[in-house]
Amino acid sequence: METPLERLDAVHAEIAKACKASRRKPQDVTLIAVSKTHPIERIDPLLEASHRVFGENRVQEAQDKWPQLRERYPDVELHGIGQLQSNKAEDAVALFDCIHALDRTSLVKALGKAMDRLNKRVPCFVQVNIGSEEQKGGCAIEALPELLSEVRSADIPIAGLMCLPPADIEAAPFFALLAKLSQDNGLSGDAAGLSMGMSGDYATAVMLGATHVRVGTALFGARS
Ligand SMILES: *Cc1c(COP(=O)(O)O)cnc(C)c1O
Repeated sequence: METPLERLDAVHAEIAKACKASRRKPQDVTLIAVSKTHPIERIDPLLEASHRVFGENRVQEAQDKWPQLRERYPDVELHGIGQLQSNKAEDAVALFDCIHALDRTSLVKALGKAMDRLNKRVPCFVQVNIGSEEQKGGCAIEALPELLSEVRSADIPIAGLMCLPPADIEAAPFFALLAKLSQDNGLSGDAAGLSMGMSGDYATAVMLGATHVRVGTALFGARS
């Protein structure tokens, strides 16, 4: 049984290897430790090992866990990675340092309003439904240019694009497509991020340009 620290080291080593193979710098890839469903006792060892970037997919769960951890580790960076209901927008803006699932006009409006009200601009990834799957979140590929312009109009800082490719098939073509969509839409500088890659495919995602990988199982073990 590996310790959490050994797992963290192993994931960092994989990222470094993928960076080397693709002539990228490891410091250009942010490892988001996805701690959803895991209790504070499981998160603590990573914090003690100086890891600071975490992801949660539910606002309520993040509110239950993170305020107390942040008291001890004020430099934690918390990413909201899951689908977001508009009525949770204000809570999300208050809690998260970055939001990964901005995928529709109604949410642009709700987040823009919440950021105005709280006087806090939270960078957001625009999620693309990269495999055009009926049941998945994310905006349709054709709708991306329009959604990006709505995000800009609402004065929401764009962090880049995010995707969750279809399960059980090779993810690489979808990662490559997300990178192409970023270029086609002229996203550059702070807006050129690519949030893609999870436990099963983060090395591939890094080789195809991921700036943020969202890794849960490989760090914490299986979720119950
Ligand atoms: C749970 C989750 C992950 C992490 O998945 P693992 O396979 O456990 O690494 C990444 N992204 C999103 C959006 C998630 O909900």
